[in-house]
Amino acid sequence: MRLILLGPPGAGKGTQAKILIEAYGIPQLSTGEILRSAIVAKTSLGLEVKEIVDRGDLVSDAVVNGIVSERLDADDCKSGFILDGFPRTIAQAEALDMMLVDKGMKLDAVVEIKADADELVRRVIQRARELGGVRADDNEEVLRKRLDVYKDQTAPLVAYYTEDGLLKAVDGMAPVDEVTAAIRVAIAH
Ligand code: AMP
Repeated sequence: MRLILLGPPGAGKGTQAKILIEAYGIPQLSTGEILRSAIVAKTSLGLEVKEIVDRGDLVSDAVVNGIVSERLDADDCKSGFILDGFPRTIAQAEALDMMLVDKGMKLDAVVEIKADADELVRRVIQRARELGGVRADDNEEVLRKRLDVYKDQTAPLVAYYTEDGLLKAVDGMAPVDEVTAAIRVAIAH
């Protein structure tokens, strides 16, 4: 199973990915988590991207494309993967298409998790409280920026993957287990 989870910050991509990796026995590839680990470890990548991530902007396509391409070559991706937070721009989606052709892989589905903006703000503020400052980008001001970036740069991917016939949409406002069930139904069809 090769899957992309698409949706704005707070929609539940990470939560659903963590459930689905158990169900399908495949890894979650979260570019956001990879970047956050690099920032915490203060690697050269981390130092390069810290400011960009903290203010809610997108890291360059070249950087994330490189991370994903390398990650897809690992053994644990042979039987599938869940991409969470990548691609986020049309250029990334095109780069991914090329990577997958090169690697002889094909996507099974792109699941869009839909949620309304007020609920997203509420969830991210709750996440900030629960994590207690672990994510510098989980505050209302940066979140509003991330939602704008999503609308401008990432939402066009819905049309991109609809054209490919890969897009399935689920209601991300439902309880977590219902969203999981809806995703499982969507990708089975
Ligand atoms: P996330 O955990 O997916 O919400 O990502 C957190 C932050 O990491 C984003 O706000 C961006 O700054 C950066 N990031 C994650 N994935 C990407 C991507 N595919 N392209 C560019 N920047 C990304």
